[in-house]
Amino acid sequence: RQPIVAIDGPAGAGKSTVARQVAANLGLVYLDTGSMYRAVTWLVLNMGIAIDDDYAIAELVNQCKIELTPSQDLQSPVRVWINGTDVTQAIRTIEVTSLVSAIAAQTSVRAALVQQQQSWGKRGGLVAEGRDIGTHVFPDAEVKIFLTASVGERARRRQQDFKKQGQPEVSLEQLERDIAERDWKDSNRKVSPLQKAVDAVEIQTDGLSASEVTAKIVNYYQQ
Ligand code: C5P
Repeated sequence: RQPIVAIDGPAGAGKSTVARQVAANLGLVYLDTGSMYRAVTWLVLNMGIAIDDDYAIAELVNQCKIELTPSQDLQSPVRVWINGTDVTQAIRTIEVTSLVSAIAAQTSVRAALVQQQQSWGKRGGLVAEGRDIGTHVFPDAEVKIFLTASVGERARRRQQDFKKQGQPEVSLEQLERDIAERDWKDSNRKVSPLQKAVDAVEIQTDGLSASEVTAKIVNYYQQ
């Protein structure tokens, strides 16, 4: 199979921008696994299913069809579809963001989505971004990166993202609280929590631009 680059890290560490740039640079396909957990969360909300109804959610995730279509350029997002509905914008709301960790902690949800990710990755040629890519989804990835940044820096980046997407402004304090809470939930769940793989290279990205981080990763890849 072709090589796989795994990029993991906490919310707002710059994974999406960097993963997309690395993929474009190396001619690989970009896989945003977070968008899949977000799409399932959107569907659960849209169907009016209670977020602790494990049984109904298991049924839903085993029957749903998620499609990701690559973006045309580095600025526009990957388009995300679930059961035929384009949810590209809808999965970025504060409501989905605040509930996604609870949905992503469910065993049935992880089993179904990880299986899908692994089948897409069978032939390699991917830059896959998430929380458990290097540890669980693609443990044999050729390059494993763990991106981190301080909570303050990550909140500032999220604020910029919201601005760019034309979303209502949220205070830095609120964003810091949300990020810290999501980190805690993602790091403390029972099934494949957010974790640095033992063989991952950690990059602390405070004060680095996305292109600088991309250049470092491309450099590791080429070594
Ligand atoms: O990366 P993003 O912030 O879009 O991910 C949304 C959420 O999806 C994360 O907070 C986490 O709960 C979940 N997720 C996960 N495993 C992944 C990717 C995302 O549990 N590989």
